[in-house]
Amino acid sequence: MNDSETAPVLRKVYALPIGHCWERVPGITLIGDAAHLMPPAGEGANLAMLDAAELGQLIAETPENIEQAFTQYETKMFPRSQAAAAQADVFLDMLLGEDTPHVLAKTLTDTLDRE
Ligand SMILES: Cc1cc2nc3c(=O)[nH]c(=O)nc-3n(C[C@H](O)[C@H](O)[C@H](O)COP(=O)(O)OP(=O)(O)OC[C@H]3O[C@@H](n4cnc5c(N)ncnc54)[C@H](O)[C@@H]3O)c2cc1C
Repeated sequence: MNDSETAPVLRKVYALPIGHCWERVPGITLIGDAAHLMPPAGEGANLAMLDAAELGQLIAETPENIEQAFTQYETKMFPRSQAAAAQADVFLDMLLGEDTPHVLAKTLTDTLDRE
């Protein structure tokens, strides 16, 4: 910190384990961070909105069978969030790992070179 009126406030980064899932519980499911809290890597809000949109659509398609909607939702949501959580973990390591900032600079340079 070079120039600020206040000292930085250190915050912990919490995350659920990669691949976190649960047994189907009648009448209940989870969306967003409650289902797949992961390190911030630019996807959490997008995943939360996608979860909500997909679950809402599935419930609307079979309102008489909400358990089927929950099962279909979880079948897609679990692998999707597992993949995103694994990516977020890599990104966190890039930002805060032992090789930062070199590995971050290399990744950005490689990305720019490819474009
Ligand atoms: C530093 C940081 C940067 C991020 N940057 C990005 C980004 O660039 N792009 C991106 O897509 N995502 C980003 N995210 C992740 C994103 O903010 C979250 O994934 C997203 O907000 C999750 O939405 P949600 O609705 O599931 O949970 P939340 O946004 O946490 O909403 C849950 C709500 O429930 C309320 N609540 C909790 N308990 C109770 C209770 N008992 N009764 C009533 N209300 C309750 C809370 O107050 C809160 O308002 C970032 C996260 C962090 C921490």
